Amino acid sequence: MSTASVFIAGQFRTAERTEPVIEAATGELLGHGSSATESEVDDAVAAARAALPAWSATAAGERAALLLRFADALLARSATTNELCTRENGMPIRLSKGANGMFPAVLLRYYADLITAGGDEEIRPALIGHTIVRREAVGVVAAITPWNYPQALAAMKLAPGLAAGCTMVLKAAPETALDALVFAEAAAEAGFPAGVLNVVAGGPAAGAHLVTHPGVDKVAFTGSTGAGRSIAEMCGRLLRPVTLELGGKSAAIILDDADLAATVKGLKNASFVNNGQTCHLSSRILAPRSRYAEVVDAVAALADGLTVGDPLDKATDVGPLVSDRQRRRVLDYIDIGKAEAKLVAGGAVPADQPHGWFVSPTVFADVDNSSRIAQEEVFGPVLAVIPYDTEEQAVAIANDSEFGLGGTVWTTDADRGTEIARRVHTGSIGVNDYQLDVAAPFGGVKSSGLGRELGPEGLAAYQQLKSIYRVGPA
Ligand code: NAD
Repeated sequence: MSTASVFIAGQFRTAERTEPVIEAATGELLGHGSSATESEVDDAVAAARAALPAWSATAAGERAALLLRFADALLARSATTNELCTRENGMPIRLSKGANGMFPAVLLRYYADLITAGGDEEIRPALIGHTIVRREAVGVVAAITPWNYPQALAAMKLAPGLAAGCTMVLKAAPETALDALVFAEAAAEAGFPAGVLNVVAGGPAAGAHLVTHPGVDKVAFTGSTGAGRSIAEMCGRLLRPVTLELGGKSAAIILDDADLAATVKGLKNASFVNNGQTCHLSSRILAPRSRYAEVVDAVAALADGLTVGDPLDKATDVGPLVSDRQRRRVLDYIDIGKAEAKLVAGGAVPADQPHGWFVSPTVFADVDNSSRIAQEEVFGPVLAVIPYDTEEQAVAIANDSEFGLGGTVWTTDADRGTEIARRVHTGSIGVNDYQLDVAAPFGGVKSSGLGRELGPEGLAAYQQLKSIYRVGPA
């Protein structure tokens, strides 16, 4: 695989323009990725447009067979993909194995099964005659992804999009330009017709050119709320369907009956996974005032006890942030937090990590929910512990946020936890854990996004409906 390629119309081409990709743990050059030019984006869209009529008319069974071959080809590369992603963005290798190595194949197989089981047409009796309700591919899709879960988030678009009969242009983030080409290699090996999947990488300018391109029918975006708003504006003007998976500032509500040892074990994943660079993290910890000191101590001890270091080491819990820019952003938020609340863990670059973009797991106590570290997405290993007096107040604090993406409730009474979960205004929430479910919709409310990925709902996002009215009985 050339490190500076784009994949267009079934061919790898030398990228017209390149950008360095830096290894997160060392700060050293890892390779060069494409920084797509307008003409490369134009060619990618043209290739997808040309491939659309045949691919969207391909029988579901044939599309499913290709998705399965695609899954196998990705799995065959998973060991090198995991490691490459970890080098690019600092994701601990244990997580990368699942998120980058396994998950895309699992999703491709899930959507292959779904389109094999369900037909494209359904007949509904009408008052006069009957109607054939048809699900058709929405068309050429622009899939724009961030760097934090590069393979998983791309697969959350490619798998349902290709299953639905759409053709795709994937524009990966420049920080993870290299692993995006694994999709291209695997698609070529699987035998997709030329132009069904096209892969480029690049920054906001390439993304904006793709979003507004006249040859694109739908945009599927994951990234920051700021970029999402700008994309929504462009799509609004064009009346172009768009799915937006954006930022979050979710709450972990610890109820007064919680088993604190089990809760803290769970928060390791729910609040710190991927070095804090996960959109659905429970980064606000809501603790009952009766147990506040105990919770603060336990969460601080969790942060202090995490193994920070080489993300390629299986023992590492927290690796580096993706980039120097991201580390500066997180350190700025830590300074803001120091002025707003009480620092009880971390709060600096770890002294034993002079290279790469490390930040110590950090916890603030005595946080007011109106403060910036409670309201703004930090996107790093930084938690805010907020006291509450009553369950009603806990729910109100959880809901007092511009975001609504994830969240968790921690309790020894799962039914009580579920009742609280029902009252939190969010797209997804876990009771005593948080795990994405391939078969269940994932997405946000409020400033966390529009639409859903995963599950049958994630397939529907790549389909449009057509009603064909007919006279007489069905
Ligand atoms: P980002 O918005 O800066 O970039 C994301 C992608 O969009 C990149 O490929 C980038 O090149 C492109 N882009 C940026 N501006 C654009 C524009 N105006 N037009 C078109 N494309 C544009 O986000 P990031 O910093 O790379 O990722 C972190 C953000 O992503 C966080 O806010 C996080 O919460 C969010 N995120 C959300 C989810 C989710 O499912 N809701 C999942 C992961 C990450």
